[in-house]
Amino acid sequence: MEECIFCEIVKSEIPCYKVYEDEKTLAFLDINPVNVGHTLVMPKNHVPKIALAEEDDLLALTKTLKKVVKGVEKSMGVDNLNVFVNQGRDAGQLIPHLHYHIVPRYAGDGVKFDVPQRKLSEGEFKDVVEKIRSAIEML
Ligand code: 5GP
Ligand code: ZN
Repeated sequence: MEECIFCEIVKSEIPCYKVYEDEKTLAFLDINPVNVGHTLVMPKNHVPKIALAEEDDLLALTKTLKKVVKGVEKSMGVDNLNVFVNQGRDAGQLIPHLHYHIVPRYAGDGVKFDVPQRKLSEGEFKDVVEKIRSAIEML
């Protein structure tokens, strides 16, 4: 079985600031938070990315995500958050164990997620929508 540093956290071999745990999921504070309250939510089973996760792990993960988002909103007094997953090294994933980031956001907090946006022609949109639709149909 694959192992990683987050698997060690699951097994309590490495400590964490745990905010929630159930049979299938664990949520804990990010050790290098973007903002106070930055929390990670993950399945206990080691899986690097969504496409490889078992459906019951994903269902449990989504339920826990909602619970923890509500907890962060209430406790931190925030309504603004970034919720995201980095998948793969080129997307900034450092730990190869699927996890959501929940990052509280505040006006003027200086946090910048650098997301350049491109323009696509109608032909390019039609091409890409067709590719993704057919790929989904073939699953
Ligand atoms: P990724 O780049 O893989 O999406 O995010 C990994 C996150 O895990 C980073 O934000 C990093 O600060 C956090 N992290 C890395 N190692 C540890 C650790 O040992 N404990 C905790 N709590 N967070 C960690
Ligand atoms: Zn792992």
